[in-house]
Amino acid sequence: CPFLCPYCLRPLTGKDMPVEINDRKGRLRAAMVKQTNSALSGFGTTIFEVMSALANEKGAINLGQGFPDEDGPEDIRAIAAKALMEGPNQYPPMMGTMELRQAVADHNHRFYGIAVNPETDILITSGATEALNDSLMALIEPGDEVVLFEPLYDCYLPLVLRAGGIPKFVRLDPPHWTLDADRLAEAFSEKTKLVLLNTPMNPTGKVFNLDELQMITDRVLENDAYVVCDEVYEHIVFGLSRHIPIATFPGMGERTVRIGSAGKTFSLTGWKVGYVTGCTEMIARIAKAHQFVTFTTPPALQHAVAYGLNKDDDYYETLREDMQAKRNFMKFGLESAGLQTADCDGTYFINADIRASGFKGTDAEFCQLIIEQAGVAALPVSAFYTSDNAVDHFVRFCFCKKEQVLSDAVSRLNDFFSNN
Ligand code: PMP
Ligand code: GLN
Repeated sequence: CPFLCPYCLRPLTGKDMPVEINDRKGRLRAAMVKQTNSALSGFGTTIFEVMSALANEKGAINLGQGFPDEDGPEDIRAIAAKALMEGPNQYPPMMGTMELRQAVADHNHRFYGIAVNPETDILITSGATEALNDSLMALIEPGDEVVLFEPLYDCYLPLVLRAGGIPKFVRLDPPHWTLDADRLAEAFSEKTKLVLLNTPMNPTGKVFNLDELQMITDRVLENDAYVVCDEVYEHIVFGLSRHIPIATFPGMGERTVRIGSAGKTFSLTGWKVGYVTGCTEMIARIAKAHQFVTFTTPPALQHAVAYGLNKDDDYYETLREDMQAKRNFMKFGLESAGLQTADCDGTYFINADIRASGFKGTDAEFCQLIIEQAGVAALPVSAFYTSDNAVDHFVRFCFCKKEQVLSDAVSRLNDFFSNN
């Protein structure tokens, strides 16, 4: 090879690839680096990080990345702070503290009638993201097919690919995001190892109903597959919709793991405390991945989350009502600005059809325009599709923000659209 790496002067091989990097003086230089893992190298920086950075740079109201702008309950935070000072602060048990595993087991039983053994059927992880990674690493054998629903949350595809899975997409379309039986059937084969389901679903705001969950259950049982169900928004469900864990369907308890997150349930997204519930055998296998990925999760946070999960029903009802009021405000606000909203029965997110405003470009162009000219950041829904013909005229707005912030964002959008 005629090239040398401009930094270490190592001779480059055919496996090296060209990149642009900053040298020590901050100048952009072309360089070659040794090829890194191909499943991940094709992905750019996540849209959440990109849009939050842009919102900061432009001074825009950030309705892009999903995080509340008010921290969750003070008593939960006080308990964590006290535990940090008083300890213990050394490695807790690999599966999670017994106190938190018991609280997760009680929570499963209180809300869904799911009865599990906290000693063997619950695993505590550093966020739902780690739980997803551990589950996929543990269950997928390279070459297995994995059923995914599009539009899909950002980490699903890279984690499936890195585990050697072959994605089979089932597409949901706005504005109703209905699950089509034929599309679902086409995604399954004798090679299907698992379904990665997210309900309530990000970015759509969809809550899968009984019939849809039954349809998925039928296919899973027919094909002897597993389900990894991401239920981080389990307590953020609106109106008459109800969150139903697919693990509660007959025959599914033994083949489903359900994943929750304290980040969403207690508006503490930076804490990264997740919990996985499943049958003993599945949890044992997933723990094999967890022990080599993070091994444990900060004990002070586990102690505080255990306290939080035991809060009375009022806490959960207030969380739901607050978020529903914000959803209603945003739906009305976006429609008053001339956008048409899609169905939204749960999560932090509502999607809007930009064509209704007369805008002729793509969702990405729309987001660029409103961040620069209206001072509001949102996310293009096309970023959550990977197959061809992505839906490219819907934009996701995050509404877990203070009323005043939502109101300012809506005024800015109204001003912008009435003047343009
Ligand atoms: N799954 C979904 C659908 C999410 O929206 C998020 C993000 N907030 C996560 C998983 C990640 O959760 P955690 O922060 O607990 O890792
Ligand atoms: N779940 C959040 C969202 O959808 C973002 C989480 C993240 O930034 N990774 O906006």
